[in-house]
Amino acid sequence: MPSRTGILLLVSGPSGSGKTTLCRRLADDQEAHYSTSCTTRPARPGEVDGHDYFFLSREAFDAKIAAGDFLEHATVHGNSYGTLKSEVLQYIDRGIDVVMDIDVQGAAQVRACTDPQIRNALVDLFVMPATDEELAARLTGRKTDSPEIIALRLKNAIEEMAHWHKYQYRLISATREEDYTRFRSLLIAERLRVARIIQSSTNPAQP
Ligand code: 5GP
Repeated sequence: MPSRTGILLLVSGPSGSGKTTLCRRLADDQEAHYSTSCTTRPARPGEVDGHDYFFLSREAFDAKIAAGDFLEHATVHGNSYGTLKSEVLQYIDRGIDVVMDIDVQGAAQVRACTDPQIRNALVDLFVMPATDEELAARLTGRKTDSPEIIALRLKNAIEEMAHWHKYQYRLISATREEDYTRFRSLLIAERLRVARIIQSSTNPAQP
């Protein structure tokens, strides 16, 4: 019997904000389960199916929508992305924290979710660079995408940045280490929330 229910730490931010690195590091440190998303976009060099994403055909993605397998799904940069319920619900139920890296549309869907388990678990954070110039520099620095894709990502990123105020928390990125310290601190603080503590007569005050 877990002493508390898990946290659903939802992280959004423009491409190049470093949010994926933060989420992955939290999972690598075994602080949380990383919710692996499904996508119809092709794998980039080095990406591994089942680790970075579940890479699906359009037909397979649509079949999952029809089966009601997604907690949320959205079209981002022309491809479909979705979070499987199975990547989230069973973990938070067992008191395991989950970290998810999703776009602003997906975040809006999760925020609108009426499931009490999700509502109680949800903590949302927006990660962003300090300036548009820094964002552009970070996006151009990633060599895996074509110039057209980089231009599209920059346009989308500037649009995404306008949504930061809808989130409970915002992190303006500094150095990798500082960002990670603040990010991990947020999770540690959220673990103290009374609303997620499961009370039982035999175990009333477990830390
Ligand atoms: P990328 O293709 O660069 O890995 O991700 C593109 C965007 O899709 C990022 O903003 C990322 O946060 C978002 N994304 C990744 N997985 C999901 C998901 O399951 N749902 C939604 N709504 N967005 C996602």
